[in-house]
Amino acid sequence: MAFGELDTMAIRQNLTVLSNTSGSVRRISVLGATGSIGQSTLDLVSRHSDLFSVEAITANCDAKGLAALAIRHHARIAVVADCAAYADLAEALSGTGIAAAAGPEALAEAAARPADCVVAAIVGAAGLLPTLAAVRQGRRVALANKECLVTAGELFMREVAASGAELLPVDSEHSAAFQAIGASQPDAIEQIMLTASGGPFRDWDMARIKAATPEQALRHPNWSMGAKITIDSASLMNKGLELIEAFHLFPVGVEQLSCVVHPQSIVHCLVAYRDGSVLAQMSSPDMRTPIALALSWPKRIDAPTKRLNLAALGQLTFEAPDETRFPALAVAREALAAGGAAPAVLNAANEEAVMAFLDKRIGFLDIVGVVSDTLEAAHGLNLIASVDRLDDILAVDANARRLARGFIENGR
Ligand code: NDP
Repeated sequence: MAFGELDTMAIRQNLTVLSNTSGSVRRISVLGATGSIGQSTLDLVSRHSDLFSVEAITANCDAKGLAALAIRHHARIAVVADCAAYADLAEALSGTGIAAAAGPEALAEAAARPADCVVAAIVGAAGLLPTLAAVRQGRRVALANKECLVTAGELFMREVAASGAELLPVDSEHSAAFQAIGASQPDAIEQIMLTASGGPFRDWDMARIKAATPEQALRHPNWSMGAKITIDSASLMNKGLELIEAFHLFPVGVEQLSCVVHPQSIVHCLVAYRDGSVLAQMSSPDMRTPIALALSWPKRIDAPTKRLNLAALGQLTFEAPDETRFPALAVAREALAAGGAAPAVLNAANEEAVMAFLDKRIGFLDIVGVVSDTLEAAHGLNLIASVDRLDDILAVDANARRLARGFIENGR
C-alpha cells in the first residue's frame, strides 16, 4: 500500500488502542536484532507478549548477543550473516530447540519466513537483499534501514508495489510525516520539512569540526543509536540520506523536501499544506514510539517512553542548517537531484568513509570529501547512469566502494 492511498477509515482506526481480543499473536522477525533499533523492537515485543511473538532474528557476527536474545525472546530461528560466527551461535543455542543458521542465503531465508511483520534494522546497504526478500513475500515491513531506499529506491518501491507489501517507516522523521500526512490528498502537500538535531557539532566552528575525533562525534546530544547513524547525524549526512528516503516514500518532488534544525528533537517532521496548515508530530526522542506505531498500525500500543511536558521544556527552537559547516547535506541533495545511481554511489562512499573515520584513518571533514570525490570519479567513469536491475545496483555499490577506498588509502 502506498502512503498516498491511505483511507480515512485506516486513519480513524489509528486512533484506537490495539487490544488483542481476537487472541491471535502477531509474529515479528527482526533483521539486525542485536542493534539499537533491533533491541528497542524486542523490548516492545516482550512488553506486549499477548500481542507479539518472535519468529526470526538476525545479526552480523555477534553470535553470543544474538543467542541471548533468541533465548530470552523465544525466537524460532537465529541467523548470523557472517559464517565465521556460526559455530559460536550453534553452540550457544544447542539444546534450546532454537534453529541456528549462517550466511547471506540463510539471512534472506529468515527474512522471507512467514511473519506478520519484518523489522528491517540492519545498518547499511547490507540490509538491501534481506529486506527485499521480506518485501517479495508481501509482508508488512517496518523499515528502519534507510540505506535500502537510498541505494535502490526506485527498484525497492517497485517491488513493494508488485508484492503488495505494506511498508511502514520507522525512521522517526518519516514516521512523523506518515502520521502528519494521514489521509490527505497528495496534491495538497506543499512541503515536507524533516527536522535535524544538528548533532554534537551544531555550534562548533570549522576548525574544531575539522579536528573532531570519533569519540566526540559519537556523543549525540539527544539520541542513543548505532555508531554509523550517529556519525551520519554529526555530519548531517543522515539528513541527506533521509531526504532521499522521503523522496521515495512520499508523493512529493525533490523541491518539496527540506530540512530544519531543531536542537531539542521533539518535533520530528512538519508537513505544510496548500491551505497554510502545518501538521507536526511530536514525541520524546525515543525510537520505541515510531517502532511501536509500525508494529501496531493502524492501532496504537503502549510505549514506555518519557511523556512530553511542554511547559517544562519551555521552548522549541528552529534554525536553518548551515551547509558551509555541514556540506554533506548539499552533496546528498545534489545526488538526489542527479538521480540514477548517484544516491547509491553517495551511500556506498559514505559507508566506507564513516568506517575509515571510526578507525581513525581519515578526519571528520574527509568523510564528505571522500563522498564528493567518489561521486565525481563515478560520474567521470559513467557509473551514475540510470540503473534498473538489482545486479547493476550491486555492481555500482561495489565499484563506488572501490573508488572510495582508493581515496581513503591514497589520500585525497
Ligand atoms: P546498529 O549498528 O546498532 O545495529 C546494526 C545491526 O545490523 C546489528 O544487529 C548488526 O549485527 C547488523 N549488521 C551489521 N552489519 C551487517 C551485515 N553486513 N549483515 C547483516 N547484519 C548486519 O544500527 P542501528 O540500530 O542504529 O541502525 C539500524 C538501521 O536503522 C540503520 O539503517 C539506521 O540508519 C536506521 N535507524 C536507526 C535509528 C536509531 O535510533 N538507531 C533511528 C532511525 C533509523 P552485529 O551486532 O552482529 O554487528
